[in-house]
Amino acid sequence: MSKPLVFTRRSQLTEFVQNTKARGDHIGLVPTMGALHEGHATLIRRSVSENSVTIATIFVNPKQFGPSEDFGRYPRPLADDLALLESCKATAVFAPSIQEMYPEGFKTSVRVPDLSDVMCGSFRQGHFDGVCTVVLLLLNLASAHKAYFGLKDFQQFFIMRRMCLDLAHPTELIPVATVRESDGLAMSSRNRYLNPEARQKASAIPQALAQAAKLFLNGERKAEIIVSKAVQVLSAEKLQPQYLDLRDLEALQTVVGEIQNEAVLALAQPMSVPNGSCRLIDNIVLSTNPFYRGILEDLIARTT
Ligand code: AMP
Repeated sequence: MSKPLVFTRRSQLTEFVQNTKARGDHIGLVPTMGALHEGHATLIRRSVSENSVTIATIFVNPKQFGPSEDFGRYPRPLADDLALLESCKATAVFAPSIQEMYPEGFKTSVRVPDLSDVMCGSFRQGHFDGVCTVVLLLLNLASAHKAYFGLKDFQQFFIMRRMCLDLAHPTELIPVATVRESDGLAMSSRNRYLNPEARQKASAIPQALAQAAKLFLNGERKAEIIVSKAVQVLSAEKLQPQYLDLRDLEALQTVVGEIQNEAVLALAQPMSVPNGSCRLIDNIVLSTNPFYRGILEDLIARTT
């Protein structure tokens, strides 16, 4: 196995991209904040299978963290990350410093209004502006044919897709199903903050989503019934989500009455952990489209 090339400067990346494109190779991009796990590995393997060159990026982006969030303590295990990238056969990794990404004088902020102001956006002001800014910059630097995003961050993917559509960005965005632990908990770099007690409680999150999925697959379409079921499962474990929303897939508007066609059920759950708190997010797309149906059936199987 060969080690991935490591670039820390924008100029190294763009020179590599130019040479790669001159050879006619296809580039796949996987943007990450590092602390890589099987969820990231799945995105990288998918890119490796669909492109001749895969570039992963590792950058803990300060612009997407609020002042009281975990930017300082976000895990940065670079050696482990490089080993995982090598095992997934990534071609290169771009791991820039903050100064390299945002040199003196950097001013621009990319904003997708409305979609960025609901769900996670209403509790993390400016978060998605930071995500849009860094992702557009990475997409521009990597000039990839395809870029891979996890559906675990459904709202993020939704906003990225809107941004690229509006700005006619040539990179094709590929959504990848959430990778879950055996009990259904969505893999996350933040799961390592959980002590055994919090980890145990956290398994109520996929259970709540799975119960809602079951209702949906059995034909239930009433928003209130689906949402109440999820709330009931969380309450039994004394979990109170920051939000638990059923939203349409056109403009992320709250579903009132019945689901028309399909919708996303998404939540954020703060968990107390020894050194403070950590916030877990998860979601399911309630749809009978075979791709999403398969995801719902997998979740139900893991939680029963
Ligand atoms: P992050 O490092 O958390 O910024 O995530 C980088 C990318 O990996 C994003 O597109 C995430 O949606 C994706 N990702 C993170 N966790 C998972 C997971 N459990 N399953 C699938 N994709 C994931």
